[in-house]
Amino acid sequence: MAKYDVVVIGAGAAGLSAGAILAKQGKKVLVMDRDEYLGGRGMAIPYEGYRLNLGGHLLEDSGSGITKIIEYIGGKLEHGPTSKGMPVWVGDRWKPVQELYNTDKGELKKIIQILTDIDFKEFDNYDDVPLRTWLRKYTTSEGVIALFEYITAAEAMTEHWYDHVASDNLYVRKMHYMEKRMAGYSFWPVGGWDGMFRQMADGVTRHGGEIWMRTTAQKLLIEKGRVVGVAYEKGPRAIPNEAYNWEVVETECVISTLPVWNVLNFVREEDLPDWYVAQIKLLAQDQFRACWLGFYAATREPVFTGVHPTELAVWFGAPNSKLGGFGFLGTGYDPQIAPPGMHLYNCGFVYQGLRSPQWVEKHFALAERDLQAFYPDTWTDKNIIWKKRHLVAQPAFGVIQKPGLVGKYRPDYSAPNVDGLYFASETFRSRGIGVDRAARAGLTCAERALGRRIPEFKDSWHD
Ligand SMILES: Cc1cc2nc3c(=O)[nH]c(=O)nc-3n(C[C@H](O)[C@H](O)[C@H](O)COP(=O)(O)OP(=O)(O)OC[C@H]3O[C@@H](n4cnc5c(N)ncnc54)[C@H](O)[C@@H]3O)c2cc1C
Repeated sequence: MAKYDVVVIGAGAAGLSAGAILAKQGKKVLVMDRDEYLGGRGMAIPYEGYRLNLGGHLLEDSGSGITKIIEYIGGKLEHGPTSKGMPVWVGDRWKPVQELYNTDKGELKKIIQILTDIDFKEFDNYDDVPLRTWLRKYTTSEGVIALFEYITAAEAMTEHWYDHVASDNLYVRKMHYMEKRMAGYSFWPVGGWDGMFRQMADGVTRHGGEIWMRTTAQKLLIEKGRVVGVAYEKGPRAIPNEAYNWEVVETECVISTLPVWNVLNFVREEDLPDWYVAQIKLLAQDQFRACWLGFYAATREPVFTGVHPTELAVWFGAPNSKLGGFGFLGTGYDPQIAPPGMHLYNCGFVYQGLRSPQWVEKHFALAERDLQAFYPDTWTDKNIIWKKRHLVAQPAFGVIQKPGLVGKYRPDYSAPNVDGLYFASETFRSRGIGVDRAARAGLTCAERALGRRIPEFKDSWHD
């Protein structure tokens, strides 16, 4: 039977980070993923000559997260274009974001200074505090509060002021102010998202690790409170109804990156303490999924509001669907994701919690009318070559980041009662945004598995 020092379940940002770091540290590593493409929720796939990003749109790392991890494992993550312009739909037209938020510079500076001085650990105290409540302690400037809340709504997709959590959002603001001297920093990875995940996978194999795609982890094997192996099934299935043809790899250490929604299919509930399972189930509730109705459109002329091809357009209440959302021109950031001269647009109409098929069908139709209102000259049959609706719900973007659902309220990285079991999914503990957050969680779990911190990451905040 094959034996590995560490088996990592999932080849998304968390799994590839953990796997590559541990392989570089000399561990015999196996990463397995049930999918055929790398990248998990952040993957990019080929479609009709285009490269569709199923997940990743923009990366939010100001340097110390996934950028540093890729450098450590022998690659290079070049930061490509950042968004130039943020038009916001207000009433019946687009307005530049600067017109909407009149911030008092002195007050803004004061808040930045407070954030710079605060220790990252202190954010644990604000895991159940709304962002506005925290800001009001230090400023009365409505402009500053509005600016912070605007960025938060766009990043974390929470809607009401009392749903924007202070800790997670201030964490990202602090990181970006400290590393880039700006409130928000996001970029397109040079070489595309698939290029980035390929580099991370190379980081695993270059250091002697293995990656098995189309391999589903079926069950974590535990004996006397210690991990002993993983039962898995290799795909694709030759016979449609075959089942339970499991094989086993031996290991004393497993890093699972499965999100809260499906982790208990792999780690059996009865193997974990009931309170820890309850934490997982709280977050896994359908009502806490951050979802959206999305459209990809391949077009002859670019679809954007006219500010800049790398603009990130945002709306808080679209005229017909009444949903908030975002839209961007993928080819504005990276022309390589479409055939020469063609364009690819991507957008999402955001909502929280699973909805009925009737609701989804109706809102897709309304959202389409919104797009006609947003882009009257380019969202036309003449300009659109093809368009595809898509649904982000199963899996969702993530677990909604609201007070009481983040930080210390999430299950810890280490299984409380099973030696050698770690959880690196960004839906568990960890802070940050999306793919960068997942990579930092992978780093933390790699360090826990090693039993020590890695000096090269001493300035990269992670738990
Ligand atoms: C539509 C969409 C848009 C997004 N946009 C952005 C963005 O612009 N920027 C950003 O930073 N983040 C974005 N995110 C969030 C980001 O994609 C996720 O936070 C991140 O990819 C999570 O990484 P992860 O490694 O924790 O988990 P995942 O990416 O979910 O990886 C888990 C992996 O486990 C595998 N798996 C599951 N079950 C099994 C099993 N039993 N056996 C083997 N393998 C299994 C899955 O196939 C998957 O590859 C977006 C997400 C979505 C869905």
